[in-house]
Amino acid sequence: MNKEADLHLHTIYSDGTLTPSELIKAAKEMGLSCIAVTDHDSVDGIEEAAAEADRLKVEMIPGVELSVDYKGREVHVLGYFIDYKEGWFLDMLAELRESRKRRFFEIVDKLKEHDVVLDEVRIARENENSALGRLHIAKEIYREGYTGSVKEAFVRYIGEGKPCYVKKDYLAPADAVSIIKKIGGISVIAHPHLLGDEGIVFDLIKEGIEGIEVYHFEHPKSVEEKYLAIALENGLLVTGGSDCHGQGKGELLLGRKRIPYDLVQGLKDFKNARES
Ligand code: AMP
Ligand code: FE
Ligand code: FE
Ligand code: ZN
Repeated sequence: MNKEADLHLHTIYSDGTLTPSELIKAAKEMGLSCIAVTDHDSVDGIEEAAAEADRLKVEMIPGVELSVDYKGREVHVLGYFIDYKEGWFLDMLAELRESRKRRFFEIVDKLKEHDVVLDEVRIARENENSALGRLHIAKEIYREGYTGSVKEAFVRYIGEGKPCYVKKDYLAPADAVSIIKKIGGISVIAHPHLLGDEGIVFDLIKEGIEGIEVYHFEHPKSVEEKYLAIALENGLLVTGGSDCHGQGKGELLLGRKRIPYDLVQGLKDFKNARES
């Protein structure tokens, strides 16, 4: 059987709902040979994922998903095969999570002004080990009955440009690329289609990004073909994944966007060539 991978997955250490062990077990059950753990601003789930992956004979790539600011727009950059034990990197992530916490309370305050009242103390306590984000808030808005869905919470309140949106502290694109490189990783622009502006991809290529997430659960086939062509024309690596947040977005997306293992091998060959 052809080996398949899903290289974009979140755990409870950011805004997913599965523990790293649960994620690996589910990946095994779905017949995935290789997965990457890519939490937002956190690598705290990787050790546990690595142990379970070892036990169940699933290949686990240590990863991360960073947020960068590109001309006022939020862009996500994935890092693969990172040295997740590097001290200065861990300190940087801890700082980003602290700033996420401050922003969480700012968003909650704004929501109050719009008559959406959440129990911020409980939410912060329940997610004290997670990189707190808007998905945590959106789920609570929905749970308390203020909206008919998690998605609607973004559309009405906390999506970019909506009344209760608050920016995070972002890295500059070139910094994210060089930070990932410094810890031995490969930088990849995440779900470019969700940005709605293809120009960003070309600018990030100039900033040194090394790959494009061509395959993504929310990429239509025509979009995948377009970004595959862009990747090939620019000599970039190609990755893909489901961007599974556990049950965080209503359904388990794990394994619903699979890529052939050849693409994983491409990442490994690139890393080996760079290091030799
Ligand atoms: P944050 O990093 O706190 O700004 O939150 C961004 C996260 O919110 C993304 O990684 C997604 O998990 C989620 N998200 C953003 N926009 C939407 C949306 N329109 N619908 C559902 N989830 C979203
Ligand atoms: Fe997320
Ligand atoms: Fe993302
Ligand atoms: Zn993601």
